[in-house]
Formats: sequence, structure tokens, C-alpha cells
Amino acid sequence: MEDCCSKSNEKEKSIVCPSCKNKGKQMKLITLKSLLLPKALANLQPDTSYQFCSFSECDVVYFNEKEQIFTKSDLKIPVFQKDVKENTPICYCFGWTRKIVSEESNKTEENTIVRSISMHIKANRCGCEVNNPQGSCCLGNVTGFINRMT
Ligand SMILES: [Zn+2]
Repeated sequence: MEDCCSKSNEKEKSIVCPSCKNKGKQMKLITLKSLLLPKALANLQPDTSYQFCSFSECDVVYFNEKEQIFTKSDLKIPVFQKDVKENTPICYCFGWTRKIVSEESNKTEENTIVRSISMHIKANRCGCEVNNPQGSCCLGNVTGFINRMT
């Protein structure tokens, strides 16, 4: 049973986080190059491919197929999914932290934060791949956070 599919799928073999065993999300190297601390960056293996672990209770942020890992303390910034502090950004590009988002969202009925971020996205101002540890757009996290709040 196990063998029948493994050959054809070898290229796209999905790797799981060595620590929590959850599936990761493919990253671009530029995100790790931007966000790793110098000591961690010095161990980067650019010929491997890295994945992001978004599981909140896992310390691992990035891992590759050789089971190399980078944890929260290897990054210059806190990781939204793994850090519950008020001042941790949800939107890294434009500095919307949990605290600011919850304050602003209480004041306004219409969601100006989501509108503002969407406007910046449209204007091509976002730099998620170098600012956000998940390497992709924060909007889903922002709307998720607001929905959970109300
Ligand atoms: Zn993990």
C-alpha cells in the first residue's frame, strides 16, 4: 500500500515538521534570508527547500527535507502564529499589531483596517515575502483575528 504512490509523487513528497509532525507550507529562500538572525542564517542550506510550520504550540518556524530546523529564537521578529503578545504584528508590512487591530476594530463598524491593507495590496506596496515570517499575505490572519474578536 505504501509503495504504490511514493514513486510518482517523489518530487512533491510533502514533508512534515520534525517537531510537531504537521504539514508545512513551502517558503521562498528570500524570506529566511530576510528574517533569520545572523547566527542562524550562517547555517542556511540554500540548495534545500524550506517549509513554514504554522502550528501555534510548536517552536519550529522553518524546516527543510534534511530535518534542519529554525526555531522562534532564530528569527529577528516574533511569529504571529506562535506568539500571543499584544504587540506582535498581524500585518507585518504596515505594522498592525493585535493591540492596534483590536482597538481600531472596536471603534469602527466598517472594517477600515482590512480596507486599508487591501488598498496597499492593490497598490503593490506589500512586502510580505521579506517582512512576514509566513512569507505570504497577512490578510487572512487579519480577518480571522477580527472575526474571532467579535
Ligand atoms: Zn512544527
